[in-house]
Amino acid sequence: MNNMNNPVNEKEGNLRPSLINDFIGQERNLSNLVTYIKGAQNREEVLDHVLLSGPPGLGKTTLANIIAIEMNVNIKHTSGPVLDKKGDLTAILTDLDKGDVLFIDEIHRLRTNLEEILYKAMEDFQIDVIIGQGIGAKNISLDLNRFTLVGATTRSGLLSSPMRDRFGIPIHLNFYSADELSEIVLRSSEILNIKITGESCNEIARRSRGTPRIANKLLRRIRDFAEVKGEGEINKDIVKLSFKALEIDEEGFDKNDRKILTTIIEKFDGGPVGLTTIATAVGEEKETIEDVYEPYLVQMGFLKITPRGRVVTDNCYRHLNINLKEKDKTLFD
Ligand code: ADP
Repeated sequence: MNNMNNPVNEKEGNLRPSLINDFIGQERNLSNLVTYIKGAQNREEVLDHVLLSGPPGLGKTTLANIIAIEMNVNIKHTSGPVLDKKGDLTAILTDLDKGDVLFIDEIHRLRTNLEEILYKAMEDFQIDVIIGQGIGAKNISLDLNRFTLVGATTRSGLLSSPMRDRFGIPIHLNFYSADELSEIVLRSSEILNIKITGESCNEIARRSRGTPRIANKLLRRIRDFAEVKGEGEINKDIVKLSFKALEIDEEGFDKNDRKILTTIIEKFDGGPVGLTTIATAVGEEKETIEDVYEPYLVQMGFLKITPRGRVVTDNCYRHLNINLKEKDKTLFD
């Protein structure tokens, strides 16, 4: 069994595009990025710091790797919550070679005292270190090799403004169109050696919440249905059967999305209701609702974020097939 699985698993690791030309969608962002990369290369300079923002699964890590590959430099990965002590960050920074990419995922969760170290490193390519102890201790500035910091965040709004200002290249990733996702599904099925019809690619794309990671995840699950319940090919019937089994509806909403929406409607009269209250009511982390669920519900026009709290829209009632209640319509304005 293992020797049958291994080649497939190896290929699954390859779903992440490694060159700009393999990266589908985000055209304006990519064409700008190519310009900045070429500019830096022509001047034989290190690429300016890049801030990648957007909901999870849209390609931030993938783009960070692509930047390093296209710049022909090494990349070191770390993340905001993992960096605990000053020494952790200092060790990473002093270890960078000229031009290297330092990728910090979830940079909005970096501790404040580490942010301050990073400011100086980003701007002056220096860090302060204390030599010695007690009364004889001395503070000296150590030169670092010039490097490119690529920060990724699902919430650029949580970054302090001095931090945000130090990124010369801010890139906000948007949800993908169904056509782009369909291309991604097709590309992934070719890599994974899955037989799939064109209309099935489109259907998976349509229900992937604008997110490549979800498209790839659905493709893998539906492949299981195709192999176990069908003849191996992903076709219209298999897709229909799979989405029913996965409890994913026409808009790509799953059980959790529906739970959030119906909770707001049933327990809080459609809102406005605060995020913390919703989180408690549905038994989910506040951050997960904010990062993972809300952006797509808002983008689809099912949920509104107002100063008074979250409000579901008429669209949402219609989609969930719930009669619009007699309620103050001004809430929806
Ligand atoms: P993030 O870091 O934003 O959470 P990732 O870079 O980890 O997202 O992307 C998630 C997965 O989606 C990747 O493994 C990759 O296979 C796929 N992916 C993301 N963006 C694209 C794209 N533009 N084209 C093709 N596949 C993509």
